[in-house]
Amino acid sequence: MDVTESMENLIEGSTEDLNDIYVSSNPLDRPLSSIEKTFLLHAERGDCATITSIIDEYRNNPNEFDINCVDPLNRSALIAAIENENIELIKLLLEEKFKLRNQDGLLYAIKEEYVEAVELLLNWEEEHHLPGELYSWEIVDRSSASFTSDITPLILAAHKNNYEIIKLLLDRGATLPMPHDVRCGCDECVKSSRTDSLRHSQARINAYKALSSPSLISLSSNDPLLTAFELSWDLRRLSRMESEFRADYNNMRSQVETFATSLLDHARTSYELEIMLNYDPEGETWVVGERQTLERLKLAIKYKQKAFIAHPNVQQLLASIWYEGLPGFRRKKYNWPRFSDSST
Ligand SMILES: [Zn+2]
Repeated sequence: MDVTESMENLIEGSTEDLNDIYVSSNPLDRPLSSIEKTFLLHAERGDCATITSIIDEYRNNPNEFDINCVDPLNRSALIAAIENENIELIKLLLEEKFKLRNQDGLLYAIKEEYVEAVELLLNWEEEHHLPGELYSWEIVDRSSASFTSDITPLILAAHKNNYEIIKLLLDRGATLPMPHDVRCGCDECVKSSRTDSLRHSQARINAYKALSSPSLISLSSNDPLLTAFELSWDLRRLSRMESEFRADYNNMRSQVETFATSLLDHARTSYELEIMLNYDPEGETWVVGERQTLERLKLAIKYKQKAFIAHPNVQQLLASIWYEGLPGFRRKKYNWPRFSDSST
């Protein structure tokens, strides 16, 4: 039995069964009516024609039909359409002015990495959001929410490392997560830690997991190499301070270090590599013929970026600087003594 089939069975199941397991998030707080069951079933099947006719017929009958009704798996018609990647149905539901509550639809679309739906839902949010009010994903009832309150669209997109969605969100003004220091004693941190210390630690992990996304670093940082080095250093410190979550922080650190090292693969010529390694944001731009200061390499040593320093391109450059006064050193042949020769 696949998921869809099991879901259809759940929807079609007897009302008595549904009463037992149904947790309502709609204001009417009642079990699904038969028309709502039919509605959800057709939403799951992607039958736009039936959905339109149900909406038209029951538009003025709120006691029997709520467009935001949810199935026993707590999925509304909109969520089913997003999960099944049915863009026609999503458009139909979003264009419907009939009290649609989007709720965490945007987060579901990001989780599914469904770019087209993310764009549609962002447009819907822009049209319906009133200044000073919470966004639709922030007003979800926490007891039935699928995502914790610290998960914002940008954090989730960064967890998925989806370049396109991260760009969409940053272009619309999404802000980066700013986790407080692990020793921070501000009111917010003290309160959050006292209320739920596990949630407090996990929120920090979620924020750092987002900041470690290579796509997010590339899109948001003016100096991705420096950002990656500094982040790797922070993660190293955190892995020691929050030792219970050491494995999580170490995984993030290796992801960030791999990203910084992989930037070296993009250097196609010695000149490009030299420009990259001699870059000094505070000094003057390095030009060919000047003494190489290798500021970036010094920075890598400071932040203990072993993989970066050991990269073959860096080692090749170092060797060529070392043998600068010995032209053609690579063509020189050196006959290593062979032990077998001495025995004869
Ligand atoms: Zn704080």
